[in-house]
Amino acid sequence: MKIAFLGNSGSIQGLEGSNTALAVCEEGSLIVVDASGSPAEALTRSGLDPLDIDLVLLTHAHVDHIYALPSLIHNLYLMGRKRGLDIAANSATLEIARSLVNAFALPLKKGIFPIAFIDLGEGSLDAGPIHVQSFAVNHGIPTNGFTFTCMGRKLTYMADCNASTPIPACSIGSDALVHEACLGFKADHSSPSEAAECASAMKAGKLFLVHLPQDRQQRAKILDEAKAAFPESTIPEIMEQIEI
Ligand SMILES: [Zn+2]
Ligand SMILES: [Zn+2]
Repeated sequence: MKIAFLGNSGSIQGLEGSNTALAVCEEGSLIVVDASGSPAEALTRSGLDPLDIDLVLLTHAHVDHIYALPSLIHNLYLMGRKRGLDIAANSATLEIARSLVNAFALPLKKGIFPIAFIDLGEGSLDAGPIHVQSFAVNHGIPTNGFTFTCMGRKLTYMADCNASTPIPACSIGSDALVHEACLGFKADHSSPSEAAECASAMKAGKLFLVHLPQDRQQRAKILDEAKAAFPESTIPEIMEQIEI
């Protein structure tokens, strides 16, 4: 199983990349998690074909995680996609996703592929060989993280969340954890040391820090703080495939 970070920034885009969004893939399966930045371009830069997307997962309906959904669908339409596209999220997020897609009347485009909105809640589904388990996290609005399992490897994305979020049972022993980290107290977010503590509690193999500020010095400080509590912490490069 591989992961590509399509962006690793927090709410503000900048030279260090766009908002946090991921691609999770394995032969026969491509999952995009959240829709921000320029998804089709970021996938192509990552060596992935946007037309291969099997599933779009949305963590929550904050603008930095969902705004590019209509553009992604429009791109796929113009690129000639024919097979259906599944979009899965919790019900509150799905409602916003549906209204964004409808705002541009995308389902009325002549010959557009079928779009299925799947209310995933805290359930699970399979996208080819990748099994996805959804779980709720604490972030002020309904938000879900995901554990991906494929051929004995496990990857967890905690999404935007604060440290009161319980460690989901499905995530224990993840080979890699993707977790947000921000500086300064924010009620609905986690600090670098809280992200590191989550990785330790999960018995994760490594920790990828995301949802980061643009400033490089602040990024270095975040990495240092996380490494002090969990040495296998890293800030992932964007738009390259990383083996889990
Ligand atoms: Zn958020
Ligand atoms: Zn966010």
